[in-house]
Amino acid sequence: MATVSPAAGIRAGIAGRSVAEAPGCLWHPSPSFGARRGGVRPDMVVLHYTAMESAGSALARLCDPEFEVSAHYLIGRDGTCWQMVSEADRAWHAGTGSWGGRADVNSHSIGVELDNDGCSPFSEPLLSCLETLLAGILSRHAIPASRVIGHSDMAPGRKIDPGRRFDWQRLARRGLACWPEASAGDEGAGAPEEPALSEPDFLHACRQIGYPTDGATLDVLDAFRARFRQQATGPVSPADIALARHLATRFPVDPSPGDA
Ligand SMILES: [Zn+2]
Repeated sequence: MATVSPAAGIRAGIAGRSVAEAPGCLWHPSPSFGARRGGVRPDMVVLHYTAMESAGSALARLCDPEFEVSAHYLIGRDGTCWQMVSEADRAWHAGTGSWGGRADVNSHSIGVELDNDGCSPFSEPLLSCLETLLAGILSRHAIPASRVIGHSDMAPGRKIDPGRRFDWQRLARRGLACWPEASAGDEGAGAPEEPALSEPDFLHACRQIGYPTDGATLDVLDAFRARFRQQATGPVSPADIALARHLATRFPVDPSPGDA
C-alpha cells in the first residue's frame, strides 16, 4: 500500500477537499474534470497504463490543464497512490468507446492509471496497491467485479492498455475482476453435435459480455485476448468462441434500459 506523506497529501482541493477518499492515497487535484452527466453514479472501473517513463511525468500530464486528461487515481510502480479527481466527479480518461452499449464511459466509471511503460512487467507494489484501492472502490459504489475492465475493452482498435502483460487472473482471484472457469474454452466450440460456430457467434458473445462490436473483428479479438487469452495469436479460433460464449453466460453485461 502507498506510503502516506501528510505534507504532500494535504493540499487545498479544487473540489473543496483536502484529503483523498481512499485511505493511503495522496490528494493531488487535477483541473480536468466535470460533473457526471445525468447525475449518474459510477458503476464500472476502467484500468489504464500511462505509457510514460515515470509516475511523476504522468502526474504532471494528468494535472496539466493544457492536455485536458485526467483519471481519478494514479498508482506509481513503487506503490504510491495519488487521487486527482473526486469519485463523485467525471474524470477525463476513457474517451471514445463504449461498454454494454454505454457510450459516455467517463460519466459511468472511475478511472485508474497504472505507472507502466507498456513494455515492462507491472510491479508488485503497484499491483498490491491496486488490489487495496479496487476493493475500496467496488465496496463504496457496490460495483460488481465483472465491471472492472481495461481501456482496450471499451475502445478496441483505438486503445491497447493495460495490455497483455497485465495480470487479470490475479485480480479475479481476489474477487476484483471476472475470469472464466478453469476448463472453459479448452475444448473448442461446444459439443460435437452442435453446428460449427464462426466469427458472428464470437462477436455476438462479445457483445453480450459488453464489448462494442461495430468495428473490425480483429480489433475486438485483440481486446478480448488481451484480457482472457494473452498468449493466443492468429484468426478467431474455436477456443476463442467457446470462451466468449462461456463468459457471456457467466457475466452478461446488463445496462439499464435507455442508458446512454
Ligand atoms: Zn488508457
